[in-house]
Amino acid sequence: MNENEDKRDPAGPAEPRAVPPHNPYPVVLEGQPALVTGANSGIGKAVALGLAASGADIVINYIADLPAAEEIAHAVEAKGRRAVVIKADVSNEAEVQAMFAQAISHFSTLHVVVTNAGLQRDAAIDEMTLEQWNKVISVNLTGQFLCAREAVREFKRRGVVQGVSRAAGKLIMMSSVHQEIPWAGHANYAASKGGIMQLMRSIAQELAPYTIRVNGIAPGAIRTPINRAAWATADAYRDLMTLVPYKRIGEPEDIARAAAWLASDFSDYVTGATLFVDGGMTLYPGFATGG
Ligand code: NAD
Repeated sequence: MNENEDKRDPAGPAEPRAVPPHNPYPVVLEGQPALVTGANSGIGKAVALGLAASGADIVINYIADLPAAEEIAHAVEAKGRRAVVIKADVSNEAEVQAMFAQAISHFSTLHVVVTNAGLQRDAAIDEMTLEQWNKVISVNLTGQFLCAREAVREFKRRGVVQGVSRAAGKLIMMSSVHQEIPWAGHANYAASKGGIMQLMRSIAQELAPYTIRVNGIAPGAIRTPINRAAWATADAYRDLMTLVPYKRIGEPEDIARAAAWLASDFSDYVTGATLFVDGGMTLYPGFATGG
């Protein structure tokens, strides 16, 4: 028999076995419903899908664009998880409370809350209106406070569930490299993210005795609608890369993988930490050649 001869069974190949699509996430969040704010777009969308791939049922919060939120709910369901879509403005106390009540009644409880919703209203400091200032602070900072408070109330009420997670709850707060790096022309945004850092650390300190873990994620430049101007053209992308030692823009999935880890027991001894997911943006790249 020559090497090139067909050695297949003349009866034909066996029935091909269904190969499940590769899931890069360890499935460790089963029985741990998760709520993600601003989950209909960008980082929030990727986090919702990443937590679903990790086994969690998902509450998808949105404020605008119901079809986008519903599309994400279908994608969660396609992963074999349950999803519910809830509209709420995170800066509105009554709407946040109603959202948590609905989410908890739907899934019985919540184990993971990702306070992600955020926006920018950029202006030079001498041209910044009080409305621009208030809008950013009320969504980015007060919104995270309102959602964190409701999450903690539920985590404390329920406590640790043996066999589900070692923690009574995991709160993940979306910050930014601008909790650290000053940002001219974006003082309201940088102030909101600096505020999130100390909000996160203070409540992590307060809640550790309750076995509740609170951590932050500080993304660098991630390819989402919020910063399209920074990556959409070749010139803008080249300029952006001067700030990123790792020489690529971040993708929303980079943040989703960090969130899945912080939500899981793999990070059980981690609380009060900010995980920088920034390709080295906070490494002072201007000093790379000696300074
Ligand atoms: P995005 O604009 O795609 O997403 C922001 C989401 O927040 C949207 O779904 C928006 O509808 C929602 N939102 C805005 N106001 C809301 C409100 N009042 N109530 C409920 N939802 C509201 O941008 P993104 O890049 O995905 O941003 C997500 C988070 O990541 C933000 O907190 C942002 O500050 C942070 N972040 C992003 C980057 C980046 O490079 N993209 C970097 C650092 C931090």
